[in-house]
Order: sequence, then structure tokens, then C-alpha cells
Amino acid sequence: MTLTSVTDDALADDLRTRVAGTVAVPGDPDYQRIQPWNVAVPVTPRAAVFVESAQDVAEVMRFAARQGLKVVVQSTGHGALPVGQDAIMVLTGELTSCTVDALNRYARVGAGVRWQQVIDAATPYGLAPLCGSSPGVGVVGFLTGGGIGPLVRSVGASSDYIRAFELVTGTGEILRVTPEEHSDLFWGVRGSKATLGIVTEVEFDLLPIPQFYGGALYFDGTDAAAVLHQWRRWCADLPQTVTTSVALLQLPDAPDVPPPLAGRFTIAVRYVALGDTEEAQRLLMPMREAANPLIDAVSVMPYAAIAAVHADPVDPMPTHENHALLRELPAEAVDALLAVAGPDAGSMQVIVELRQLGGAFAQTPPHRSALCHRDAAFTLTTIGAAVPEIAEPGAAHAAAVVASVGQWSTGGQLPNFAPAADAARLARCYDEDTLYQLAALGERYDPAGVLRTGQVARYPL
Ligand SMILES: Cc1cc2nc3c(=O)[nH]c(=O)nc-3n(C[C@H](O)[C@H](O)[C@H](O)COP(=O)(O)OP(=O)(O)OC[C@H]3O[C@@H](n4cnc5c(N)ncnc54)[C@H](O)[C@@H]3O)c2cc1C
Repeated sequence: MTLTSVTDDALADDLRTRVAGTVAVPGDPDYQRIQPWNVAVPVTPRAAVFVESAQDVAEVMRFAARQGLKVVVQSTGHGALPVGQDAIMVLTGELTSCTVDALNRYARVGAGVRWQQVIDAATPYGLAPLCGSSPGVGVVGFLTGGGIGPLVRSVGASSDYIRAFELVTGTGEILRVTPEEHSDLFWGVRGSKATLGIVTEVEFDLLPIPQFYGGALYFDGTDAAAVLHQWRRWCADLPQTVTTSVALLQLPDAPDVPPPLAGRFTIAVRYVALGDTEEAQRLLMPMREAANPLIDAVSVMPYAAIAAVHADPVDPMPTHENHALLRELPAEAVDALLAVAGPDAGSMQVIVELRQLGGAFAQTPPHRSALCHRDAAFTLTTIGAAVPEIAEPGAAHAAAVVASVGQWSTGGQLPNFAPAADAARLARCYDEDTLYQLAALGERYDPAGVLRTGQVARYPL
């Protein structure tokens, strides 16, 4: 039986005999449920399977191979990429198990779990899961991309805290992956997204961080140059107990945006400090004095309030992203960035963000992984609204923002930011050795190439 001879209904009926989860094809009411968080991304797979177990995922892999189809995976769609009729989509949203072992300080969660669920389960024990800036993001998508959180300089990449995976390979094998079992996969899955399989469960450390001193200072756009230059100088001497980022913001005039920030150009300095509170306050003083803050929302906070640091958007929205890694941020780079993304530049971006790396992120982790570029000093990410009238010029402007600091760029990128499927972008996520090693592992564990689509590491063309 070939792909073209099978109707959608016949395909769905066949799949339904093999999996316990719901199967939906275009026209079925359940097919609507696949819309990703980034609603600008067209996602129209041949069929969608809301899997209920690793066995379901294994059946989908084998079925797709027989039908000559690809398999893609989606949890929340925060990192969505276009999906077409050549693929079956595995939806992990039903895999919501989440258990916390407080004594041994780890969590075991299903692939459909978002960070908020783990925060809710762990913080009553004074334990912190190392989430990213937004607790609405999926745990597994974030961790397989490395995971750069609001404490990254203090703790390193979140994926360095993984203890084990349950992984379904492209051939439908269900494997337990740990530093000792399938160590090649344990190395590779941490940084290569779905290149080597679909994760159905993950176990990771919880850290004893009940609270932090942090939050954000918001300044008026007219202070952007003073604040950004001061931030650049201040960053240089921060200890590893501090993680910081800065964002040029043009937030909409919407009811959920605080009035001082709505419909105008502002700049936010995000700050998270662990350890002694007085010392954390002292370290922040130069930024508090950089200009007169519109809002000073920095205080002692329970870890459960970690989302307040970045205050990322929660509701689904149409976005486009661009991204670069910088090896340094001299005064000339700040000027160049402000010239295209500052308050007087007619910037088309909602957010232009710099995160400082270094600290624990730059140190060798206990178990090597496929996450590269640990020597980068800063991430630069742009986020714009991908609404039809401005999506194209907005993306072109985002490229100009990234190009403005091109001479300070490392040339690398991180897998979690600005997702894309093109080979050139994928190659930039890895050093050459890592890319070839991942591509070779991909061929070994998925010889038919069922997973070889989308954001998957493969040999450069
Ligand atoms: C508002 C916002 C804030 C963010 N903040 C941060 C941040 O602070 N730090 C950071 O590092 N990243 C951040 N990201 C990026 C985010 O971590 C990635 O987009 C991540 O891939 C999202 O995972 P998801 O499952 O939610 O999204 P999805 O779009 O569902 O998945 C994205 C990709 O993750 C992989 N994936 C998902 N599930 C599985 C699985 N079960 N097995 C194997 N691979 C899988 C696949 O490649 C999939 O295409 C942010 C993104 C947004 C939109």
C-alpha cells in the first residue's frame, strides 16, 4: 500500500486499531486541538495522534515507516515549525504524569507536562525545577534544546540536571536512557531536540532553592541608552550567584500589560540572585541608579514566582524570532543595537533581549552533552508579531537587528531560540564534531529517517 492510495479516513482507521490515543485527521473536531502556541505557524499534518503511552509512540513510528511518512512531535507548540501532509504528528499533551521524590530531590514527568505543573509539585518541598523564563513551556521541548533558565549563570544549563529519559527511537524501540544505559543517546538527546527519538518521560534533579532575590526593573524608553550601557558595564563584574538579562520592550496597549509599560517603548533589567539578600541588594544598586525606574519589581520572592522575572506572554500568539550568540558586548555593540532597535529606531520588534551567559553555563558539566556554544557570553533574541501586514518587514527588521551586532557574534546559535528547520541554521547550533556525531547517531537509531524532518540535526548538504 502506498501513501497516495490511502484516504485520510482509511489511514485514521488503520492507526486507530494500533494506538490507544485519539487519532484525528483534517475535518475531525479533535484536529483543531493541534494548533500550536505560536499560532502563526502552519501545522497541517496528515494525521494527529494524541498518544497515551510510549507504546503508542512506538506504533506511530512503525506505522509511519510503513506508509512512507515522517513523524513530528508537539507538546505545547512554543517552538512550533511548519508541518505538512508528509508527516504524522505525535501530540504528547495526554502524558501528564508528574511525581516528585522530595527525599532524593528529583522529579519524573511525562512528555506533556509544562513547567508550571512541576513548580506546583516541587515548591511545597522547597525544591526548584530549573525551568525557563516561561512556565507555560513544555518540560521536554525545553530540556532537549538545552534549557537556558533565569538562573543559568548560577546553575548552568537545565539539561545538565537530567538523570534519565524514556525514549522511543525511530524504529519504535522503547529505551531507558541514562549515563550508563545507552550513554550515546544520553549525550545526544540533551541538545538535539527530537533528532534521536521522542522522549516520553524524563527524570531530573530538583534543587533546594526555596526563594531568590530578584524580579525586574522597568525604565522608560528615553533611558534605554543609559540603562543598556550601564548594564553592559555592570555585567562584566557580576559573580556567579547572579543571572541577568535586559529587554527592549514595545508591549501592546492591552489590559493584561501594566499601564506604565503598555503601548510605549520601555527597557527591563531582569535580575535573579541566590545567596545573601543584603549582598544581592548591594549588587543591584548600580542598575537601580542607572535611571529612575518606572517600576521596581525586585524583592525576595518564592521560587514559585520565578515567572515574574521575565513576565513572558502566556496566551497563544503569532510570533517570529531571530537569534544570535555574542562573544562580547563592547560599547560599540550597544550603540549598534540601539541604532536599529532603540527607542528612536522605529523598531518593529516587541522584544529585543540580551541574556548574559557565562558562570556555571560555561563550566564543563558532569556528563558531556550535545549542547554546544557554552563559551558564548550573551544571547540575543528578537521576538516580533507575525501578523500578516507586518510579518515580512518585521522578520526583515529582526534580521537587521541581529546583523547590527554581527561582528561580535560567535556564529553559533542555541537550539531553543528561533526554531528553524533549514540546514544552515541547524549547523550553527553545533560544532562540527557534534553535528556529525548526532547525524551518525540519527542514522543508527532511525535508519529509515522517520524523524528526519524539521529541527533535526543532520549532515550538512
Ligand atoms: C514565551 C517563550 C519563552 C521561552 N523561554 C525560554 C527560556 O527561557 N529558555 C530556553 O531555553 N528556551 C525558551 N523558550 C524556547 C522553548 O524552550 C522551546 O521553544 C521549546 O522547544 C518549547 O518546547 P515545547 O514542548 O513547549 O514546544 P513544542 O513546539 O511543542 O516543541 C518544540 C520542539 O521541541 C522538541 N520536542 C518537544 N517534545 C518532544 C519530545 N517529547 N521528544 C523529543 N523532542 C521534543 C521537538 O523538536 C519540537 O519540535 C521559550 C519559548 C517561548 C515561546
